[in-house]
Amino acid sequence: MLRIGLTGGIGSGKSTVAALLAARGAVVVDADRIAREVVEPGTPGLAAVVGSFGPGVLTADGALDRAALASIVFADPEARARLDGIVHPLVRARAQEVVAGAAADAVVVQDVPLLVETGQAGQYDLVLVVEADLETRVARLLLRGLTEEDARARIAAQATDEQRRAVADVVLDNSGAPDALAAQVERLWAERVVPALGERDGS
Ligand code: ADP
Repeated sequence: MLRIGLTGGIGSGKSTVAALLAARGAVVVDADRIAREVVEPGTPGLAAVVGSFGPGVLTADGALDRAALASIVFADPEARARLDGIVHPLVRARAQEVVAGAAADAVVVQDVPLLVETGQAGQYDLVLVVEADLETRVARLLLRGLTEEDARARIAAQATDEQRRAVADVVLDNSGAPDALAAQVERLWAERVVPALGERDGS
């Protein structure tokens, strides 16, 4: 198994890179998706969030009211830390289960938006960082429906490009066209992934 940690700021193109790697046969573990799954109705995760933040974070039909929770934690770092303390361990445990279930010769890609912020770089054979210019990211996030203010605030709350680059084995530049990104992923696969897998199989 080759474990790849994929990270980058919001709007840089992580999901796009993950999809390109999945098309080549990688098993993708999506932290954002798992983060939603661990607080679905009926989960211990949702019970813990309600226990900590009260029933005001539930919708009328008993699901997590993301907007209500976001408005609490966005304004209060202590509340944010409390939420992270509940959700992050659950996400990690579930991600580990998925990884453990992958084949021995699999390439497992974990899309971890906060890989740098949470100090997880050491867990991977290869750390991939996706970058795009600030203004390009903002423009893409606007197309995805965020407001400009929200997009800039989210970008500012994350690690910087320099901090991410410091832990990167490979940096992919996604400031250009989708084809240019696909070409970089193709090269990465041929030059880094396939040889690394070969070394592992031989050991
Ligand atoms: P992330 O997962 O890092 O937040 P995404 O992969 O979702 O980023 O990309 C952000 C948005 O930009 C998406 O809507 C995506 O389709 C679009 N996008 C990604 N790469 C490019 C590109 N090279 N050119 C144009 N749009 C892109």
